[in-house]
Order: sequence, then C-alpha cells, then structure tokens
Amino acid sequence: MAQIIDGKLIAQQTRAEIAEEVAQLKTQGITPGLAVVIVGENPASQVYVRNKHKACGEVGIYSEVIAMPEQTTEEELLAKIDELNGSTEIDGILVQLPLPTHINEEHVLNAIKPDKDVDAFHPINTGKIMIGNPDFLPCTPAGVMVMLQKSGIDVCGKNCVVVGRSNIVGKPMAMLLLAANGTVTVCHSRTKDLASVTREADILVVAIGRADFITGDMIKEGAVVIDVGMNRREDGKLTGDVDFASASERAGYITPVPGGVGPMTITMLLRNTLTASALHHKR
Ligand code: NDP
Repeated sequence: MAQIIDGKLIAQQTRAEIAEEVAQLKTQGITPGLAVVIVGENPASQVYVRNKHKACGEVGIYSEVIAMPEQTTEEELLAKIDELNGSTEIDGILVQLPLPTHINEEHVLNAIKPDKDVDAFHPINTGKIMIGNPDFLPCTPAGVMVMLQKSGIDVCGKNCVVVGRSNIVGKPMAMLLLAANGTVTVCHSRTKDLASVTREADILVVAIGRADFITGDMIKEGAVVIDVGMNRREDGKLTGDVDFASASERAGYITPVPGGVGPMTITMLLRNTLTASALHHKR
C-alpha cells in the first residue's frame, strides 16, 4: 500500500516558513503585495480568488482583489495592468483565468511586467525556465517539486514521465524535473500505448483533466505517483486523473485528490510574491 504524500500538511509547513519570512521583512519596513484581478462572475474563479486573498492574509502578505465586470474591454483591463505594473505597493500581479472570450488572454498575460509575473506565464519567464535560470517557477509544477523534496524523493537519474503537455502544468513540470536531473518523457493525447510508457516511470506526474484515467495496471510497482488532476464527478465530489484505489495498491508514494497538489499551488503563489518583493527591493 502506497505512502500518502500529504499536500495539506506540506503546504501548512511551507506557509509557516513563508509567514516567518514575511514577518522578518516587515521588521525592515517591507510588506510584499499581491494584486489578483478577476473579470466577470465565473463562480469557480471567484472561489479561487477568495482563497488566494485569504491565504495572503494568513501569512501577512498584503493583497488586493480587483474585480472587474464581465463587459470590461481588453483596453480597460490592459490599463489596469499598466497601473499595477507601476504600483510600488504591488509586487505580484495575477490575472485569474479564464478571461471572458472577448479578451485576448495572451495580450493580457504578456502585458504583466515579467518581474511581477507571479504565475510565471510571461514568455520571458517561460524562457528563463527553459534555460534553467528562472526568477519565478509556475505554481503547480513548483508545488510538485517541493512535495517531492519534502518527502525525501530524489529526482536525480530517475525515469520521470509527465502525462499532459499544457503550458501551465505539463511542459514546465517536465522542465523542472529535467533541471533536477531526471530523465524525462512527456506524453499527450497522441502518445501511442500510453500504459507501456507510464509503466516505466519511477516518478509519474499526471495532468490531463480526465477523471480516474490512470489505473493501477499502468503504474510500476513502487513508483511515485503525483496526481495534478482536479475533476468534478457527477455527485459533485472532487477526483484526480489517477484512480486512487487501484493506483495506491501499486505505487510506493501517491498524492490524494483533494489534499495533494491542490493546496501547494496557492502556497507557491505566496512564495513567488515573496520572490517578487525580493527582486523589487534588491534595486
Ligand atoms: P489542459 O487541458 O490544458 O491539458 C491537458 C493535457 O492532457 C494535454 O496536453 C492533452 O494532450 C493531455 N491529454 C488529454 N487527454 C489525454 C489522454 N487520453 N492521454 C494522454 N494525454 C492526454 O489541462 P491542464 O494542464 O490545464 O490541467 C490538467 C489537469 O490538472 C486538470 O484536471 C486541471 O483541473 C488540473 N490542474 C490542477 C491544478 C492544481 O492546482 N492542482 C492546477 C492546474 C491544473 P494534447 O496536448 O495532445 O491535447
């Protein structure tokens, strides 16, 4: 039976470390600040934004939620980003996705100053990750790396398989595992005989958005299984991309959903806000 990697506990520990660092900064008159911009009334986005605001408050980070109406134009949103780019109180800017369809997400994300881009979605920051010299790490993959490290799992030399190649999770995840000296394979919807690839993984990270898709027979005995997926079942319950019951019979370590990767994502946003604050006060 696999050992559970408790994301909630690791997130709590990491947030306590962040809170200490924030308290230390405050003695020097520095308060890190985050602006979270939300456009429209998507209920899921509203929950995410509330959680981010609350998490900031808990560790002493100043945060502002900027709620803009659904009919906001791209120009109006870009003007707001511009204002936040120039604010000395704001170290990090996060635009909650998805944006309403009449707004071009790429235009908006690219308008955030790279040194305030705490989601690490700006091409400058993705490029820096690619060449192994990042300022910020994208929150979800960074959270996975902290979970591995805090669970004493060494990536060096391991066969790592990432299922999913999105810009937000899969691709940066592969880069971070590579930077940690893993031997990395990336799979996607066109991969032939997926199971034969996943069965070779010492460390398997799954981010596809398909409920309970990876089953125990696709997992090598003793492997580390990280389930990034967050899917709503018909009964309203949250479930991952990995079939937990069968996978935990085979894996050595496994993350549950909920209580695995999820809590780490906001934690790494707090970490990135601290990093941004450090970048701004170095000058
Ligand atoms: P995307 O939809 O952007 O990407 C999904 C990826 O999975 C694509 O690369 C796609 O391949 C691949 N894929 C889809 N079906 C299959 C299949 N049958 N076999 C192999 N690969 C497949 O999703 P995201 O990366 O944004 O998110 C993935 C999951 O992670 C979702 O459940 C999401 O909710 C969750 N998530 C969780 C977070 C957290 O904090 N825990 C944060 C972000 C996401 P192709 O490129 O070929 O289409």
